[in-house]
Amino acid sequence: MDDTCLFCKIVAKEIPAKTLYEDDDILAFWDINPQAPVHFLVIPKKHIVGPSGITAEDEAIIGKLLRVGAELAKENDVEHFRLIANNGEQAGQIVFHLHFHVMGGRPMGKLG
Ligand code: 5GP
Ligand code: ZN
Repeated sequence: MDDTCLFCKIVAKEIPAKTLYEDDDILAFWDINPQAPVHFLVIPKKHIVGPSGITAEDEAIIGKLLRVGAELAKENDVEHFRLIANNGEQAGQIVFHLHFHVMGGRPMGKLG
């Protein structure tokens, strides 16, 4: 755990979040400032700073994040969704703990 990291604090239950899914490796919770009717985040419990911090030993967890993110979208009646991770400030990353956004429930438009 990184004591300065907001999402590590959510994993440790020091900060509350509305959880959709949790297991030993990952956590999914609703985004506090949703940009779409369905907008949740899927994160590893392990602190990884972002996509550029992923190592070979994380590959199984990354696969699980994508699988569970897609399954949770379906469970929330969203068939068409965006599943993205920002890397670095200029890409819009504000929390430096890897997270995949799952967004849907409206037309998403082009990334830009
Ligand atoms: P980023 O911009 O780093 O890719 O995404 C960070 C996301 O985390 C944002 O969509 C933001 O709304 C969300 N967020 C930031 N702080 C909190 C929080 O305390 N709780 C929850 N549930 N989401 C948060
Ligand atoms: Zn963290």
